[in-house]
Amino acid sequence: MPLRDDRSHRTFEALRQEYPGKFELTNIVDWTPLNKAELLLVHDKNFVEALFDNEKSKEKIIECFELYDNNGKPNRYNPSLAKKDLSQMVQDILLQGRGTSFSMGEALKDGMSFFLGGGMHHAMADGGRGFCLVNDLVIGVRKLQEENLVKKAWIIDVDAHKGDGTAAITKDDPSIKTLSIHMEKGWPLDIGSGDGPWRIPSDIDIPIPYEGEEDYIEKLEKGLTELREVHSEHVNFAVVVAGADPYEKDALPSSNKLRLSLEQMLERDKLVYHFLKSRGIPQCWVMAGGYGPHSWQVYTQFISYLMREAE
Ligand SMILES: [Zn+2]
Repeated sequence: MPLRDDRSHRTFEALRQEYPGKFELTNIVDWTPLNKAELLLVHDKNFVEALFDNEKSKEKIIECFELYDNNGKPNRYNPSLAKKDLSQMVQDILLQGRGTSFSMGEALKDGMSFFLGGGMHHAMADGGRGFCLVNDLVIGVRKLQEENLVKKAWIIDVDAHKGDGTAAITKDDPSIKTLSIHMEKGWPLDIGSGDGPWRIPSDIDIPIPYEGEEDYIEKLEKGLTELREVHSEHVNFAVVVAGADPYEKDALPSSNKLRLSLEQMLERDKLVYHFLKSRGIPQCWVMAGGYGPHSWQVYTQFISYLMREAE
């Protein structure tokens, strides 16, 4: 998910103030954007080629971020005010994908990592959608599998929106099992979305009906139990797509059918964290969706909890 606000920065600064000397910026000068070979672990050749073509890559960005409406008018975008060429955005997003991949490596070393970025779970094999250009989650896992560092992985998606790209990409891949807990209705599952690969089920889907927040934690717990009972053989890695958009103060209209309190958000995160930790499964967390001036609080409270726990 591209950073449309300063949530990474605010999260980082809040943590740095709370825990002086404990947080440092990672030096990313040596990072390179995800390359073609890595993208081909997940994406179709035509799409990957397009991302490296100056003109076609702009079209892919426009599609993914819906920068023009059906009448051809700019939407969320003013070409005359644009600070960067759209094709540069591709490189920025691929660099963020590198961050996800790097962070997965850190999780393998330390047992736990939290990347302040990443989580592009709507990207399909043949193209980006829903602000997600490439599926950094599956790319990162498949890279670790290629390097024989991971055998089988779980992708646990607690963003407000269904992890539809991840489910579609991995539907025939027994080495990656997916769980998604999300709004029952609302994009990409509303009637207006029609039929398409976004309806391909995850291995475990947990739809939360409108005003069903009260049962959220219990349902998540049940889903995790099912994951453990049915899909745990050889699992030695997990990715958590920790969207902050289920939070009741999230600013994105399309996520307002799920409104968890800040306390429930922490309960959610603790539940998933301890579920994985108690099984000794290395876990990499990514930010995914989270919009508006309050989303940083969700990430900060959880990482702060981790810090206290480690003391
Ligand atoms: Zn979302």
